[in-house]
Amino acid sequence: MRYLSKSALARLPLPVHVLLLLLAILPGLNRAEDERAAVEQRLADSARYLASDELEGRGIGTRGLDLAAEYIAGRFAQYGLKTELFDGTPYQTFQATTTAKPGENNRLAFVGPPLEPGGDPQRIELRQGEDFTPMAMSGSGHVDLGLVFAGYGITAKKENYDDYAGLDVAQKAVVILRHEPQQANPNSVFNGTNHSEHAPFVRKLSNAFEHKAAAVIFSNDQFEIRRTVAETHKRWQAALDELAGEHAEFKKLESPSLDEIERERKRMEELIQQVNVWDDKLEAAADPILPFQAGGGESQPRDFPVVFCRRALLDRIASSALGTSLTALEEQIDQGPAPQSRPLEGWRAVGDVEVQREKAEVKNVAAVLEGEGPLAEETLIVGAHYDHLGWGGPGSMLPDEKAIHNGADDNASGVAVLLEVARTLALRQEKLRRRVVFLAFTGEERGLLGSGHYVAHPLFPVENTVAMLNMDMVGRLRDDKLIVAGSSTAGRFAELLDEVNPSHGFQLSKTPSGFGPSDHTAFYARKIPVLHFFTGSHSEYHRPGDDFQTLNVVGMRRVASLVTEIVVAIANAEKRPEYVSVAPERGPAGGERPYFGSIPDFTHSGPGYAISGVTEGGPAQRAGLLAG
Ligand SMILES: [Zn+2]
Repeated sequence: MRYLSKSALARLPLPVHVLLLLLAILPGLNRAEDERAAVEQRLADSARYLASDELEGRGIGTRGLDLAAEYIAGRFAQYGLKTELFDGTPYQTFQATTTAKPGENNRLAFVGPPLEPGGDPQRIELRQGEDFTPMAMSGSGHVDLGLVFAGYGITAKKENYDDYAGLDVAQKAVVILRHEPQQANPNSVFNGTNHSEHAPFVRKLSNAFEHKAAAVIFSNDQFEIRRTVAETHKRWQAALDELAGEHAEFKKLESPSLDEIERERKRMEELIQQVNVWDDKLEAAADPILPFQAGGGESQPRDFPVVFCRRALLDRIASSALGTSLTALEEQIDQGPAPQSRPLEGWRAVGDVEVQREKAEVKNVAAVLEGEGPLAEETLIVGAHYDHLGWGGPGSMLPDEKAIHNGADDNASGVAVLLEVARTLALRQEKLRRRVVFLAFTGEERGLLGSGHYVAHPLFPVENTVAMLNMDMVGRLRDDKLIVAGSSTAGRFAELLDEVNPSHGFQLSKTPSGFGPSDHTAFYARKIPVLHFFTGSHSEYHRPGDDFQTLNVVGMRRVASLVTEIVVAIANAEKRPEYVSVAPERGPAGGERPYFGSIPDFTHSGPGYAISGVTEGGPAQRAGLLAG
């Protein structure tokens, strides 16, 4: 906007009082524009710094993550917020797993009844890495436990199917097959064409724990083996065909030169090598053990041993104890589906399971803005995670590429917006009626570690925490489209959004559930109403190219403005938002591990991992959703 020149004013055919009015408000309009520019400058400064290479992608265990924490803490203090919260600091520290690997002293044997009366017990020694492997989500410990076959390890009320019905697995090692009954059966009571929410390892572990099992032994299901063998066989056949084709071509030459013969010899060697590779893979496909990391969950280990075991060995035990094969049991299960669970009488698993975990100290960063009046003991939380994937690894879309994943949208954008909301509220003349706690979470990408830690160790009681607003990936506003999850988690949230939004001009896309792949899930699991703001996914998601230049800073300013208004509305409302229980949406379920392992089992209560009581759907129902 420009000021009008005197001569321009003279030529305007406007009444004098209109001109005077214009003159009065023009500087005001200009101030508003300056103010917007200043907000955008601050947002850009924060996001640019947090997403700079200096901060190394803010991975767990990097110096960059600590620098980010210091930056956030510095801003909170600069705005005059209360930051002497944990031993005089804004840092809520705890230990997080940085890496997990199988220990060196894993040993396992299956010990069974003697073949002849008075003889020695049967003993099947398992070789680590060939016959069995601990899984990344395993705890460590000695085992000497009776074995029980528990089918697919599924308890599915709606489908009226329970592998544990009438089965006592207390203090036993349960043998569980991967996936679920009736696969590729269009009439399956489960998904049939894909895997249902009962298939993931985490779900099966929770279920085993609920039934008081003391260890879990996973093995491949017959369907999976057939599928992998068929696929591998195709590749093996293709390699063989290529070899035959090459040979046929060569035979057509009437008198090949020495050069041509030498070239052919080399080519044949390569092709034979290729056939051999597929030959080995074909053999392995018949009874593979999964990689250590296959089930995810390295950051949220269970209290009990979890191993993966070759099927052939368990088959031997099934035939010894039950006089039948695993395949026969699976076929019987499929016919109902009807569980075929039973103790593997006389057989025990004996050994030691060890997973080594390296830990690092990590921290949430917090700041408090106190409220005033009778509602001042109620708390509203505004949060955003500040960690990202660091140099890549398992959470990356390019897991084998070692490159800084700057995480500008995910989630430097959310932190920048969090800081701006904090600043605006801190500068308000009038105090809010409720307290606002600003939280920058760590370890989100490792499975909501920071938010999970906070709800277990809150600054102010969870019962008096009236709502949580989360921002994760708010830097890519396109066509005004803003996704707000959790719109049905409190009685009036959807209404509130509709009331506030018109002056902000977003195309709101409201999703009802409070469960999703970001930190709000930890709060919603504690029955706290949540709203989660998100500008949508994109092709740089969890890739090294999620860089500052791709951010829509104007969009971030608009999100900050909307969130600020919602914070004020909730903080000053007569009544606190009323929690409403909403079942998780059914995501495009399918995998056996939650999407990139970043969605933990938030439904556990106490030291173990039980699934009942907290949510209406299981954690696996969140599997397959986009992780933020
Ligand atoms: Zn994120």
